[in-house]
Amino acid sequence: MLNYVNLEKQDPELMKIIKAEEERQKNELEFIASENYVSKAVLEAMGTVLTNKYSEGYPGHRYYGGNQIIDDVENVAINRVKKIFGAEHVNVQPLSGSPANAAVYFAFLKPGDKVMGLKLDHGGHLSHGHPVNFSGMLYNFVQYEVDEKTGVIDMEKVREIARREKPKMIVAGYSAYSREIEWEKFKEIADEIGAYTFADIAHTAGLIAGGQMNNPVPLFDVVSTTTHKTLRGPRGAMIMCKKKFAKQVDKAVFPGMQGGPHDHITAAKAVAFGEVLQDDFKEYAKVVIENAKVMASEFMENGYRVVSDGTDNHLLVVDMTSKGISGKDAEIVLEKIGVSVSRSTIPNDSNPPMNPSGVRFGTPAATSRGMKSAEIKEIVRLIDLAIQNKDSEKELVIIKQKVMDICNMFPVPSL
Ligand SMILES: *Cc1c(COP(=O)(O)O)cnc(C)c1O
Repeated sequence: MLNYVNLEKQDPELMKIIKAEEERQKNELEFIASENYVSKAVLEAMGTVLTNKYSEGYPGHRYYGGNQIIDDVENVAINRVKKIFGAEHVNVQPLSGSPANAAVYFAFLKPGDKVMGLKLDHGGHLSHGHPVNFSGMLYNFVQYEVDEKTGVIDMEKVREIARREKPKMIVAGYSAYSREIEWEKFKEIADEIGAYTFADIAHTAGLIAGGQMNNPVPLFDVVSTTTHKTLRGPRGAMIMCKKKFAKQVDKAVFPGMQGGPHDHITAAKAVAFGEVLQDDFKEYAKVVIENAKVMASEFMENGYRVVSDGTDNHLLVVDMTSKGISGKDAEIVLEKIGVSVSRSTIPNDSNPPMNPSGVRFGTPAATSRGMKSAEIKEIVRLIDLAIQNKDSEKELVIIKQKVMDICNMFPVPSL
C-alpha cells in the first residue's frame, strides 16, 4: 500500500473516501473489459512533482522555460513506444482516448468529411461516429456492421460499403468486439479508394504489445490507443503514425486540441511502457486471452449465447436473453455479489443502449491479480448461480462471500 501520511492528516474526509475505494477494489472482482490495475511503480510516478510543470509544445520546442528535464521524461516515453510497437512517430500527450481520436480526425479531416466506422451497438466506440458524440456531429460517418449470423466483421461487406461511399478515412479497432481484426484487408480496401487508415487499439494495445495479436502500427497511417486498459498504465492515451504525418498529428494535439501535457502522467506512461518491455508482460497478455477463452466456453457450456461464439482477445459479449434477464439487471445482480461488469448491446439489439441485452466481460484485471483458468471457471459458476438466484437476497449474500474468498487469495497488485 502507498503511504498517505500527509493526505491522512490534512484531509481525513477525502482519505476516508479513497480508503473505501481501496477496500472495494480489494474485495470485488473486476471484469469490466476496459479496466486494469496499475503497478505500485506506475502509481508512484503519478504522484510526483512533475504535475507542477507547464510544458506546452514538444521536446526541444516548448513555450515555457525550465523544460529540459520534462523533455527527458517525454523522450523516454516516446522511445519506449517506438520499441514496443515499431512506430515511426509517437505523440504521448493525449489526455485520454476520446481526445486522442478527436486529434486524429482533426489532423486528417475537415468537418463534414466522410468517415467509415463500426456501428456502436456492434462493438464500436462513441468516438467512431455516434450521433451523440462530437465525431458523429462534426463528421459524416457511414457505418459498417458485424455479420448477423457469425458476429464477425464481413470484409467483403466492408469493401462494398467503402467502394460505394468512398470515405476519406476508415476506422478499425473497437470497444466490444472479440475477434482478431484483418488489418491487411482494411489497408487493401483503403488503398483501393485512397482513404486514410486509422486503427483505434484502445482495448487491445496490451495484447498487441505482448505479441499475442496482430499489430496494425507498421501498416496503418495512424493508430491511437488509451494507456489504461490492457496496457496497464495511467489513464491517458497516445497516437502513433507514419513519419510523413508527424507534423499534422502533433499540431492537432497541441495547439489544436489541448494545452499543456500532464507530465506526471507522461512519466507514469513511460514506467508502464517499461513494464510492457519486460519478458513477463508477454506471458501476462497470453494468460489474459487464455482466461477470456475459458470464460467464453464456460458461459456457452452453461447455456449462454456468446457473440461470435467465443473470443480471440480479452473480452466477450454475453447475450443474457436466454436467461430471462436484461444486461442492465444482470449488471445489478452481479454488483450484489461483488462482481463488476458492464452492460453491453449485442449486434442488432432490440433493446435500447441504457438497458441492452448483453453483458461485456473482460479478463485483464483478474489476470493482473494472478487468476488463471481454474479461478475463471469457478467465477463463471458463481456468476451463473447468481443469475439463477437473482431474486434471492439470501443466496446472493452467500455467493458474495465466495467471491470475497477468491479476492482474498489474489491481492490487487498495488494494494
Ligand atoms: C475506451 C475507448 C476509447 C476512449 O477512451 P477514454 O479514455 O475513455 O476517452 C476510445 N476508443 C475505443 C475503441 C475505446 O475502447
